[in-house]
Amino acid sequence: MTYDAIIIGAGMSGLAAGIRLAHFERKVCILERHSVIGGLNSFYRRGGRNLDVGLHALTNYAPTGAKNRPLSRIMRQLRLAWEEFSLAPQVGSAIRFPGAELNFTNDYKLFESEVHRRFPREKDNFARLVGELCDYDHIDQPSVRHSAKEHVAERVKDPLLREMLFCPLMFYGSAHEHDMDFGQFSILFRSIFLEGLARPFAGVRLILKRLVDKFKNLGGELRLRAGVSRIAVKDGAATKVVLDDGVELEAKNVLSSAGWPETLRMCAEPSSERAADPGRLTFVESIAILDSPPEKLGHDKTIVFFNDSEKFHYAAPEEAADVRSGVICSPNNFDYDEPMPENVLRISTLANYARWAELDEVEYRLAKLRWFDRAAAAAARFMPEFRHAVIDTDMFTPLTIHRYTGHEGGAVYGSTQKRYDGTTHLKNLFICGNDQGLVGIVGAILSGIGIVNKYLLKE
Ligand SMILES: Cc1cc2nc3c(=O)[nH]c(=O)nc-3n(C[C@H](O)[C@H](O)[C@H](O)COP(=O)(O)OP(=O)(O)OC[C@H]3O[C@@H](n4cnc5c(N)ncnc54)[C@H](O)[C@@H]3O)c2cc1C
Repeated sequence: MTYDAIIIGAGMSGLAAGIRLAHFERKVCILERHSVIGGLNSFYRRGGRNLDVGLHALTNYAPTGAKNRPLSRIMRQLRLAWEEFSLAPQVGSAIRFPGAELNFTNDYKLFESEVHRRFPREKDNFARLVGELCDYDHIDQPSVRHSAKEHVAERVKDPLLREMLFCPLMFYGSAHEHDMDFGQFSILFRSIFLEGLARPFAGVRLILKRLVDKFKNLGGELRLRAGVSRIAVKDGAATKVVLDDGVELEAKNVLSSAGWPETLRMCAEPSSERAADPGRLTFVESIAILDSPPEKLGHDKTIVFFNDSEKFHYAAPEEAADVRSGVICSPNNFDYDEPMPENVLRISTLANYARWAELDEVEYRLAKLRWFDRAAAAAARFMPEFRHAVIDTDMFTPLTIHRYTGHEGGAVYGSTQKRYDGTTHLKNLFICGNDQGLVGIVGAILSGIGIVNKYLLKE
């Protein structure tokens, strides 16, 4: 049998692409190397607790029925009812630097008033910048791909405000160190500050369940433990994929969410294109289970982006991790109808893949303990003390991210060189997901949908 399309990877982008193809009655098979779906945003059970791998929050929140928003586009294109993701909006988040705080909720007016309060002289400059961000169209304005640092510095004069704006946006989506593309800055600003944050009560497993049920109900085929080791090539086209166990599957088209450099390496006939750099930005994620809700400890924020000096450094550190800055997320602090069964804090900090990879097993375990303590101590400077309430811990390192996604170097946002049009050197091989330039859950889903609509539904 020849499939109309084979999709490599059952993460958010692969599942969304699969639904779209299956909806239009294409013979489609999703191949996933792991025994679970979700990729960077999966879930697991540990010590009787249900935990998410990555989820802090879904960006691009829109209230029920809102039109012309990325979230409404997703729901429409995937034929999902609005209620199916059961999204609860954030309670309220903050950016905290020494002596400076900017609060925000899903009502943009609060963020605007916070910027005016803390940086009154920047009122007009900030308004001008936000106006540009709203007008920016990342599809029709590819020529505007340039340094966000330079662009923002020309508009916003106060360096502290600039650093406070870049901190959350880089943490939630920049594959580049030190700077980001202005288009990406605009997408992330809108998705976090103008739209907002939300989470399903049941976590990412609910979103994944809805996607996988939809895909299967439409007749799509999902194969787990089915890693693709090679893509066979003939006359400039992919002809079949070869699985880790040697099984061969034929397809008219192949769509890969494994990453651009990773996908090129699977091709039996090497591309003349220079291999893209796999990206260096990765995180350690320290998870603390608490004996009481974070709110009871005085912490009522959904997300806190922190940085311990006036300058924010976004780069792979020399050491295994960099706890000068980070993201504290409490999945409890969303506006649910009932309290969550677990009390959880997640702390993400920048990390260096090579430093973790060079450790032997004992050193690796010790390093996890040491860096958990450091991350918790760093976070405690920007929120009420919580360490006395910790009853269990877990930690992801860049090695975990690599193991569960295949992304080289555990690169959370993929390569620094994006493949915005999704094409490759082979006429029927396409890239979706992070390396197509759209990051985060909503970005990845939009990418899967977009590439299918553009190339695979034409025939
Ligand atoms: C710790 C962490 C926290 C995050 N938090 C958030 C958040 O709060 N909100 C948010 O919006 N985003 C968050 N993200 C980012 C978000 O998870 C990703 O941008 C998005 O899920 C990427 O989806 P994807 O489909 O492009 O890729 P992936 O999730 O990487 O999926 C690719 C899939 O392909 C599979 N695969 C790879 N190679 C092969 C092969 N050869 N054969 C078969 N299968 C293969 C992998 O196993 C994987 O399942 C987070 C990421 C991390 C790591």
